[in-house]
Amino acid sequence: MIYLDYQATTPLAPDARDAMLRWLDGPDGTGFGNPHSPHRMGRQAKAAIELARERVAALFPAGGQVIFTGSATEAINLAIRGSGKNGSVSVSAIEHAAVLDTAQALGQAHILNVAKDGQCNTNQDVPNDTRLIAVMQANNEIGVIQPTVEWHRKAKENNALFLCDAVQAYGKMLVTGADMIAVSAHKLHGPKGVGALWVRDGVSLEEQQTGGGQEHGLRSGTLSPALIAGFGAAAEVASERLEEDAAHVEMLWKRARELFSDWTLNGSAEARWHGNLNIRRTGLDVNRLMSDCRNVMFSAGSACASGSGRPSHVLKAIGLSDKQAKNSIRLGFGRYTTLEEIEQAAAEINAAAQDQGLTEQ
Ligand code: PLP
Repeated sequence: MIYLDYQATTPLAPDARDAMLRWLDGPDGTGFGNPHSPHRMGRQAKAAIELARERVAALFPAGGQVIFTGSATEAINLAIRGSGKNGSVSVSAIEHAAVLDTAQALGQAHILNVAKDGQCNTNQDVPNDTRLIAVMQANNEIGVIQPTVEWHRKAKENNALFLCDAVQAYGKMLVTGADMIAVSAHKLHGPKGVGALWVRDGVSLEEQQTGGGQEHGLRSGTLSPALIAGFGAAAEVASERLEEDAAHVEMLWKRARELFSDWTLNGSAEARWHGNLNIRRTGLDVNRLMSDCRNVMFSAGSACASGSGRPSHVLKAIGLSDKQAKNSIRLGFGRYTTLEEIEQAAAEINAAAQDQGLTEQ
């Protein structure tokens, strides 16, 4: 099987796996302690969490704290719901459902437009009562990188906070200024079921679940030392390999672009994380393509949207018709993808597209 779905999730790094095993039971059976217990086993587990916190924090700007959560979705909910009750929440049209649906559920969403290249530019107004602006760093469907520094500045000018969903960027590029940043371990070769919210010093939030008061009272619930240790190890490896991973992805991107030169790229080629190739062919039957290429794991639109039958809201927001959106596929690759895998997958996908009688873009 060839795995080309890196925006959905990433393979677990060996270092992350090793770090986790110690806190599941450990060689001497003492790894299962509750990190909030005051005895020795508890203190050891707590120390592992604090080490992981430092490793995760190293990929964030200075001057903030890391709150561990069960996912990025939970981190985003804490940021949006916990940062205020009144006023508008201005969000880009291509945010993940975790942001869009939360702002909408509160009845506070103001949707920011996105240009044809996939960028959400700051040359548009936000409502006067905007209390929070949320623009992601790299999009999960088309990989387009957003001008988050400018949005942070605009938020300050409007006396609003700025939340950045950096799930797809964290561990791949430096995460730039924001008041709050949400991330998820499983997108950077860590385990599923653990995320974090980075909160700038001085930003105050209200807890969204009551209980034992863990994580500075912001996220009650017993932390998982194994998941968090895995997250920390994955973050440390990502810090060490930031440039090496980016160079590897660049090499794969260049070859993939050649191999899929008959396809049209969705979104900007330049302002983009190059581990994402979202492409379309006129008349492509994506379901048939997927069943013809069962050896290749890729996606139709985003993992969340695929299966729903609805055309992707991201592709629609950048001006694609329903048909064009449904003619699109997403290939995602990264650290563990080989050139041979890209070539093999391209051969299979292009042959299957040819079988559909597709000749033009
Ligand atoms: N934001 C983006 C951009 C994502 O890609 C995802 C996951 O697909 C999420 C948020 C949600 O992350 P989690 O799976 O940790 O809830």
